[in-house]
Amino acid sequence: MRAVVLGSNPWSLRVTDDWPEPVAGSGQVVVRVLGVGICGSDLALASGRRRAPAYPWVPGHEAFGDVVATGTGVDQGRVGQRVVIEPNYPCLRCPACRSGRTSMCPDRVIVGFTAPGTLASLVPVPAPFAWPVPGDWADTDAVCAEPLTVALAAIRRSGAKPGSRCLVVGTGSQGTLLCVALAAYGITPSVLEPHDGRRELAVSLGATAAAPDATGFEIVFETSGAEPALTEAIRRAAPGGTVVLIGLGSEDTRVDTGLVVRRQLVLQGSLIYDHPGDFAATIESAIRSPGRVLRASYPLDQVSEAFRAAREVPGKTWIRLT
Ligand SMILES: [Zn+2]
Ligand SMILES: [Zn+2]
Repeated sequence: MRAVVLGSNPWSLRVTDDWPEPVAGSGQVVVRVLGVGICGSDLALASGRRRAPAYPWVPGHEAFGDVVATGTGVDQGRVGQRVVIEPNYPCLRCPACRSGRTSMCPDRVIVGFTAPGTLASLVPVPAPFAWPVPGDWADTDAVCAEPLTVALAAIRRSGAKPGSRCLVVGTGSQGTLLCVALAAYGITPSVLEPHDGRRELAVSLGATAAAPDATGFEIVFETSGAEPALTEAIRRAAPGGTVVLIGLGSEDTRVDTGLVVRRQLVLQGSLIYDHPGDFAATIESAIRSPGRVLRASYPLDQVSEAFRAAREVPGKTWIRLT
């Protein structure tokens, strides 16, 4: 089958036609992949900042497609079903999993990073991690389901309520999806983003640009992981406010703990989503057209161009496999 493979050199992406086809194991479905979104973690892998367990490696994790085969123990009626893939498989047995926080499972399988990714014609998926797509979702919405779930889980963990005064720091594709999700909660988020194109995209989807001196936000979402952005996020939070950290910072990121103490801020980390509640919430959510954050799509043959665009184009880039 066709697949994108990454070599051990940075950005060495190519398409191969003879990658081995998967078969549906017990409890699995095989999905014919139709589209894959590209996000910052894929770029980290392609650039070599993050290492794959082996090379050549199939990257990609934000995918949708059609079920084409079922393994033993899976309802054969699922063949033909359009699904989105939840690309993190927790063990479901450890204390973290049993407490409902599967995102913290130490044995979690991470598709595209610790297990082969979704930039392939066919991928095997544990059946409960292939979620049926609502009939009124366009392909462009389905390709955004995974990062949308990251956004919705962050909002759930933040305790935001309709009317909460929210700030989103950083409007890359994840920050922009957060704005779309907040709008569905009746919240018009303010945004702080130095890149004009990214800020304008978020504003065009219903956010407002924060005034240069705006402070007093009850909930601040920091999506970049960069130290200057974290500093701004903490500086602009209201007394007693919550700063939700979604961007993965580095070990030596500095935090003004004096300000955190004096303002009695809550720092809330938010890592992906918990199975099965968060994906179920996305599928049932009233959020429509998350695909509006997409700005560029490429056929599989142009995977290198797609990754290049994902670095430079505001909004999200995705790859079509049809
Ligand atoms: Zn992602
Ligand atoms: Zn576990």
